[in-house]
Amino acid sequence: MPPTTGIPQGQREARISSHSHIKGLGLDDDGFAHADRSGFVGQRAAREACGLVLELIRSRRFSGRALLLAGAPGTGKTALALAVAQELGHKVPFCPMVGSEVFSSEVKKTEVLMENFRRAIGLRVKETKEVYEGEVTELTPAETENPLSGYGKTISHVVVALKTAKGTKQLRLDPSIYESIQKERVQIGDVIYIEANTGAVKRVGRSDAYATEYDLEAEEYVPLPKGDVHKKKEIVQDVTLHDLDMANARPQGGQDIMSVMGQLVKGRRTEVTDKLRAEINKVVNSYIEQGIAELIPGVLFIDEVHMLDIEAFTYLNRALESTMSPHVILATNRGLTTIRGTESEPGYGGGEGIVSPHGVPIDLLDRCMIVRTLPYQRDEIKTVLQTRVKVEGLAIQPEALDKLADDGIRTSLRYALQLLTPASILSRVQGRTEITLADVAETDELFLDARSSARGLQERGEGQYLR
Ligand code: ATP
Repeated sequence: MPPTTGIPQGQREARISSHSHIKGLGLDDDGFAHADRSGFVGQRAAREACGLVLELIRSRRFSGRALLLAGAPGTGKTALALAVAQELGHKVPFCPMVGSEVFSSEVKKTEVLMENFRRAIGLRVKETKEVYEGEVTELTPAETENPLSGYGKTISHVVVALKTAKGTKQLRLDPSIYESIQKERVQIGDVIYIEANTGAVKRVGRSDAYATEYDLEAEEYVPLPKGDVHKKKEIVQDVTLHDLDMANARPQGGQDIMSVMGQLVKGRRTEVTDKLRAEINKVVNSYIEQGIAELIPGVLFIDEVHMLDIEAFTYLNRALESTMSPHVILATNRGLTTIRGTESEPGYGGGEGIVSPHGVPIDLLDRCMIVRTLPYQRDEIKTVLQTRVKVEGLAIQPEALDKLADDGIRTSLRYALQLLTPASILSRVQGRTEITLADVAETDELFLDARSSARGLQERGEGQYLR
C-alpha cells in the first residue's frame, strides 16, 4: 500500500511494543485500582480516574470531550491511554501519535489529524454467509465433448458429495468452482465449505479432525454435534475507516505488480479526498442502518499535545464534535506554556503569544477532563522492571535490579526500562544468562540520561550546538 501521512506503521507498532505487559487498567468491580494488576503498578489515582472516564464512554456521556493526561515523562501516560483502549474491548483501535507529527512538509496539518482520527475508528462488518459444509466423499468433474470443435473435453459441472453427521448431500456445481477446488487442493476426506452465492471453497481440515472433538472435561474425543450440510456462517471482519479510505483511493485498474511498482517509483501518492471520505461515510452509515456493520470508536492518543499549534487545536476542537469521532486522549508534560502559533499573529498577544495551561487553548481545555500522573516510588519502579524482565524473557540478579531501580528514581522509569535491553546484550556477550550489577553499571556509563546530558552540556558551556 502506498505511504500516507505520518509515521510508518512499523514505528507505530514499535511504540506500543514497550507496553506489551499492560493488559488493562487493573481495576476491581467497584473501580478501585489494585496495587499491581493487569501489568499496571501504582499510579492508582490516575487509573481510577481513567476508570471513571471509561464509565462515561460506555454510557455515551463522553462525546465532545477529551481526556488530558498531564505528568512527567515516563509516568505511564501512554500506558494509561492504551489500557483505556484495551478495556473498551477486543480489537478496539488504538492509534498513538505525537503532536509534532502534524508538521510535515508534504501534507497539511489538518490532513494528518483527520487521517489519524480515521485510523482510530473501527468498523466491524458482520456478514452472514450461506455455506455448504461437510466431508468430501465424492469429487467428480463431469466432462463433455467440446461443443464448438468437437475435439477435446470441457468440464460441464462438478459433482461434490458432502457428508455430515446427518447424512450425505450430493451437490451439482458450476464448473467455475473447479479452479477453487484445485487451488485449495481439496481431496476426498477433506472437510470443506462452499459459499452458496460465490462458490468460494475453503478447506477446513481433514475428516478425522472434523468427526471428533476433544472434550476437556471428559478428557476424551467425542463426536461433533450433528450438523447440517447447509448452514449459515457468520464472518466478522474488523477494519478502520482509514483502511477503507486507502482501499478505495488506490488508482483504479493496473493492480498488477508492474503498475504498482511504477506508482511507487514515481512516488505517486494515494490521494484521499474529502469527497471520497464523504462517500465512504455514506456507505458506512447505510451498512450501519442495515445492521451489517457496527462502528467501533477506538482511542486516538496524541502525546506531546503542546506541540500542536492553534490551527491544529481549532481543527481538533471541531473534530471532537463530529458524530464519527474516536475517544481522544491527550498527553503533555508541560505546565504553563505558550500556545504554538500564537506568537507572531497580531491579535494573538502580539509577539509574546498566549500562555495557557499545558500549551492548550482554553476552549479545548474546557472540554478536557484533566488527570495528573505522579512520579513513581522506588518499589513501584522495581516491580515494573521485574515485569518487563519476565515479559522479555530475561533474568537479572537482585543487586542489578536494585541499581536499575535507583537509576529509575534518579532519572525516570522509562530510562531504567531502556537500560534493560543493552544490559542484557552485554551479559550475553560475556556468555552469561543473567544481567549482573557490572552489566548495569557498564550500560549506565555508556549512556546518558536526559538530565545528565543537559547538565553536562551546561557545565562544559556548550550551548545550542555541540562542540
Ligand atoms: P512520555 O511522556 O515520555 O511519552 P509516558 O508518560 O507516556 O512518557 P509511558 O511511555 O507510558 O510514559 O511509560 C514508559 C514505560 O513504562 C512504558 O514501557 C510503560 O508501559 C511503562 N509503565 C509506565 N507506567 C507504568 C505502570 N504504572 N505500570 C507498569 N508499567 C508502566
